[in-house]
Amino acid sequence: MQGRTLEEVAGFFREFEIPIVRLAHETYQLDTVHTSSRTLVHLPRAQNGFTENYLAFTIVPTHDAMGRVTGVVIYAADQTLQRASEAEDELQRLKLIFDNEDMMPLALYDAPSTRLLMASPRYLDIISHVHGLNRDELIGRKWDELTAIGSPEEAEKLFKTALESRTPLRLPEVHLELPPDQETIWSYNLIPVMNTRREDVVDFVLISKVDVTEQVKAREEMEQLNRLKDEFLSLASHELRSPLTSILGNSQLLERHIWRQETGEEREAVVHLLDSIIHQVHRLSRFIDEMVDITRIGANVLELHNQENVDIVAVVRQVLEEYGDTAGHPLKLEAGEEAITGTWDQARLEQVLNNLLTNAIKYSPSGKPVVIGVERQSGEVIVWVKDEGRGISEEDQQHIFDRFYRTHNDDDEHVDGLGLGLFIAHEIIVGQGGRMWVESKPGEGSTFYFSLPCQ
Ligand code: ADP
Repeated sequence: MQGRTLEEVAGFFREFEIPIVRLAHETYQLDTVHTSSRTLVHLPRAQNGFTENYLAFTIVPTHDAMGRVTGVVIYAADQTLQRASEAEDELQRLKLIFDNEDMMPLALYDAPSTRLLMASPRYLDIISHVHGLNRDELIGRKWDELTAIGSPEEAEKLFKTALESRTPLRLPEVHLELPPDQETIWSYNLIPVMNTRREDVVDFVLISKVDVTEQVKAREEMEQLNRLKDEFLSLASHELRSPLTSILGNSQLLERHIWRQETGEEREAVVHLLDSIIHQVHRLSRFIDEMVDITRIGANVLELHNQENVDIVAVVRQVLEEYGDTAGHPLKLEAGEEAITGTWDQARLEQVLNNLLTNAIKYSPSGKPVVIGVERQSGEVIVWVKDEGRGISEEDQQHIFDRFYRTHNDDDEHVDGLGLGLFIAHEIIVGQGGRMWVESKPGEGSTFYFSLPCQ
């Protein structure tokens, strides 16, 4: 070795050459003592191979009689034993944490060998129960022998995935049968713990489990209740609707019958009564429909049955025809002859148009015109319903599409409604990729718009 350069000597060792050579040069040039932090060095063995040593270097400049720097002396203090005892202390501290964690099942596995290094008492309890093993036989066993997740092959695959991805792996619901015959559900986490020096090396895998039995059961109960509620609602609405249909049919028959049989004032009076029955039946039917829709939206199951080539102009014409002149308001259509088609749910579009038209009629004085317009505008169709009614304040416009929202107008008291129509209409339009909005000035009327993507 004697007579060789610093670079040559350093080359005999692995890792440490670069920092130490740099430090030695700095010491020489700056004429100051330098120390290095503890460094892992692989020292060559006498025969072959290397030993892992932890060295701390102190580099001191040497001087001649004139005080000029002539070289450097490198002192290396071997801290390998000290480092080993510190690592042992750290391990003991960690073990203390695991031993004292009484609630949570926690375990630390060695990544290369997959053997269990330490575990909390709850983890040991669970594993010893699942595998019928003694608690003190568990440390040192391999992951695939111990885990309670699926078959050994599946378990091995999960461990490998966590190692390779180097990111935590979460298994949301693992079912375990624990004494006394109790089905428990756990959320499992496999967390790779990286080497502090090399970010691409996983040293350990930390396993943590959280008991989610209560939450899962509560969620399942909620789902079951929701299903029951939906079933009840569809049954109830069916049961409510059939007598209504029959009342409606019979009233209309009766009305026609009386119209033919009776004359004069008596006839007017009876027809008036029957009209009122028919009106109330329609009102009840609408409430039932809105009630069903609102629960469906709540459960995210407002199904849309979209069909290709639905012509919105034809749909608007048809809805207007159905209103006829029963409305007490002149109804005007502003649309071209050309069809505007898209993939939409026709029945739901009719529902939206009916809602907008009914509102325009309900909230404007009798005799005032209501205009429906349809227009194609770059890739979408815009439909509007314009009335000359009382209008909607800025504040109310902000909430008009909210569930159960009704404006606080005195004259609303004799106008029936649940404040659901616009909310449902908005959901229907948004559900088909469209938008819905309103423009209005109090006292001057309102225009409700919706847009839909068209062909
Ligand atoms: P409702 O069944 O109560 O009419 P909607 O959701 O259809 O429920 O409407 C919500 C509220 O918005 C109504 O109560 C009314 O106050 C207001 N509104 C809706 N349309 C109009 C309109 N064309 N002109 C004025 N106010 C309206």
